[in-house]
Amino acid sequence: MKWMPVLFILFALCVVSCNEHPKKTAVSNGVSDTLAGFRNSRVTGLQYELSFDIPAKKQEDIAAKMRLSFHYAGAAGAPLLLDFKEDPQKLKKIVINEKEVPVSYKNEHIVLDARLLQKGANTIAIDFTAGNSALNRRDDFLYTLFVPDRARTVFPCFDQPDLKAVFRLTLVIPRDWAAIANSKLQDSVARNGRKTLYFAPSDKISTYLFSFAAGRFNTAREKWRNSEIEFLYRETDSEKVNNSLHAIFDQYKKMVLFNEQWTGIAYPFQKHGMVAIPDFQFGGMEHPGAILLQASTLFLTRDATEGQLNSRAHLLAHEVAHMWFGDLVTMDWFSDVWMKEVFANFMADKATAVPDHEQGFSLKFLTDHLPPAYAIDRTTGANPIRQTLTNLEKAGTLYGGIIYHKSPVMMRQLETLMGTSGFQKGVQEYLNTYAFKNASWPDLIRILDRHTPADLRSWNAVWVNEPGRPVFDYKTELDPAGGQITGFSVFQQPEFGSGKVWPQRFDISFYYKGLVRTITVSDSLAAQQVPRALERKRPLFIQFNASGIGYGVWPVDTAMLPHLFRIDNYVSRASAYISLYENMLNGRYNTPLQLLRLFESGLSKETTELNLRLLTGYLRSVYWNFLSPQQRHQRTEHLEKSIWSALKKQKSPNNKKILFGCYQSVFGTEPAAARLYGIWYSQDPPVNIVLKEEDYTDLAFALALRNTTGDKILDRQLQRIKDPDRIKRFRLIMPALSHDPAVRDQFFAGLQRQENRANESAVGTALSYLHHPLRQPSAEKYLEKTLELLPEIQSTGDIFFPGNWLQSSFGSYQSASAYHTVTTFLQRHQELNGHLKAKILQCTDNLRRAQAIVR
Ligand SMILES: [Zn+2]
Repeated sequence: MKWMPVLFILFALCVVSCNEHPKKTAVSNGVSDTLAGFRNSRVTGLQYELSFDIPAKKQEDIAAKMRLSFHYAGAAGAPLLLDFKEDPQKLKKIVINEKEVPVSYKNEHIVLDARLLQKGANTIAIDFTAGNSALNRRDDFLYTLFVPDRARTVFPCFDQPDLKAVFRLTLVIPRDWAAIANSKLQDSVARNGRKTLYFAPSDKISTYLFSFAAGRFNTAREKWRNSEIEFLYRETDSEKVNNSLHAIFDQYKKMVLFNEQWTGIAYPFQKHGMVAIPDFQFGGMEHPGAILLQASTLFLTRDATEGQLNSRAHLLAHEVAHMWFGDLVTMDWFSDVWMKEVFANFMADKATAVPDHEQGFSLKFLTDHLPPAYAIDRTTGANPIRQTLTNLEKAGTLYGGIIYHKSPVMMRQLETLMGTSGFQKGVQEYLNTYAFKNASWPDLIRILDRHTPADLRSWNAVWVNEPGRPVFDYKTELDPAGGQITGFSVFQQPEFGSGKVWPQRFDISFYYKGLVRTITVSDSLAAQQVPRALERKRPLFIQFNASGIGYGVWPVDTAMLPHLFRIDNYVSRASAYISLYENMLNGRYNTPLQLLRLFESGLSKETTELNLRLLTGYLRSVYWNFLSPQQRHQRTEHLEKSIWSALKKQKSPNNKKILFGCYQSVFGTEPAAARLYGIWYSQDPPVNIVLKEEDYTDLAFALALRNTTGDKILDRQLQRIKDPDRIKRFRLIMPALSHDPAVRDQFFAGLQRQENRANESAVGTALSYLHHPLRQPSAEKYLEKTLELLPEIQSTGDIFFPGNWLQSSFGSYQSASAYHTVTTFLQRHQELNGHLKAKILQCTDNLRRAQAIVR
């Protein structure tokens, strides 16, 4: 079937009509879709020559020069706008086509006079002071992070993904610094304690992918394919470095090979390069030739857990997949930012799957994606996968659990619907068609549609353009003797609203003594009979979505509960844990306390690491979010004993460590505190558990929260830390944990200044301690201000910070008064941007549910 989505037609018409009236284009803040559409239709052949003179001290200005050349189609007297979101005083000199002109600046734009521009080739030369807000200037290093529209906060540019350009970069840096950029270093000249680095012209990339990092870094290189992979890092723990470098290079190469094979397209960029950033505010960022990666995910000790190894492999796989998905073919506009993320995750899942280990893949897919997708999709602030975006300045608000975790589920369903071969061929055609160009989701769907007889239109309408998830239910009929199933029907309805059905494949498993029979439902409807179930005898119990491929809230047959930890298939057990938790949140089958007891009873029986991680995560969430303080008080001692006894029974060191983390999270009695204090003080962990410096740091934080002499514990822990970046992080978090409420007040007040929020990763961690349930009586007063600051957090912070800010603050509240703060704020601030309002609803959903289910 061929089709043209309505949305696409409207958008195309709008761009065309706006382009016809460029004079009416108002100069407004940000980069509007109108402005972007206009420039895209007029500007081609972009090349930026940029030079930055970077002093060693982060307080000093960075002098910069830019020479921009492009081909212009003209616009009948209308000016051309160049984006620069900074103080116009920073613009020192502007030369248009060799003629110096006064600075004309309005609402985050340099206004280029039409009379000075010509049809055809144009050059704009600008001397300026670089803006600092996306340079992440730390004491002795910096790194750029321009996604989605922050290049314009550093240098003047056409900051939109569909104006790809070649970048020629020159950096002047202190002589003992190292630097990396998208392209290879061509030449370097040292003079007077400084050195000038000349980088080769980059490949054609979007502004958000242009990047460099410079500072005191170590450089590791590995020869590969007549070239090399360059890797910059700052980690000082030699055990971690020695244990990790080879693995990082190895995984990088494997991932390049995997993507080359799957896409049929050779690695598309001139250079291979990575940088490990301490306290990085993202997991990674896919700048070609200079991929930024979270250092703590990369550098692992010999006894890293399976979870840590998986995270590292997945992070590298995700970022490498972006070289094809996002970097080579880029979305037209950030409303389709999810496309690059879905493919990066989807390819990473494929690439990291162990061959011939379908179950392992399914388990990882299930535990990686379903819980975080549901965490957003179950809320009243849930967003669809594809969202509208009228101005790039709001692009950061689109990111979250839906684009990272629901969309891979959607893509797996799409691949199932189309068949793997048709799907792969379609995606290859899309990459080849749009290489080094831009494309939208409708462009891809049009191509995929040629490779399948399936009805992609109705499928797309609900999966991609609608938020939410289906809630399933079923009805069984038995013959009068009760031995044979005579009727079996399944129903689905949306969790919120009505009239939506999610076409999908899922399965229903019938458990008998020593036997499981599974029926696959390949195209689900609002209500349907499942005739194949009629062949079945009455089972011990039924399980929906035992393979984990389906998406929704699945009914639970309570007859399963006594058998739960004896279910043989670990994917099915994981799926059952997820279903039980999701239903508990909806007030179905189990109260929080019942679920806690059930999960607690499985701690010594569940031996699959990913499952134990899931189980303990849920246990912690139920304990802190959904038990009342009184229930917690009554339950803590029992829970501590169960966890400790499971820790002793479990054989694998990783499982022991997971349980140790759980114990550390929930402990509350004097003996438990004494035990943990002893372990921390003497650095003598339980048998077969390895604790590293970061583990002792977390333990010190947990003790400090509960101990009147906590500040001394923190002081002592600080003395133990050797790595300078980790010392800085610790110092930032310390006051949030102080025993003295005045110190905590001062810490929170300090966050109102942007410079104190620069290390977003550490600020998020600090906030979660500041608002820890044990500290909430004195912290609740910060909540209103936290909400008031949100628009500023969004406009000054990076893309994940608004969610991090809210989640770290509100994530563990349950009181009626905290909920009242949220609802009152939303009532009073009707003007709040819709995406931000949705973020608040997403991050306070547990608080909303707590009002109904905490007893
Ligand atoms: Zn990504």
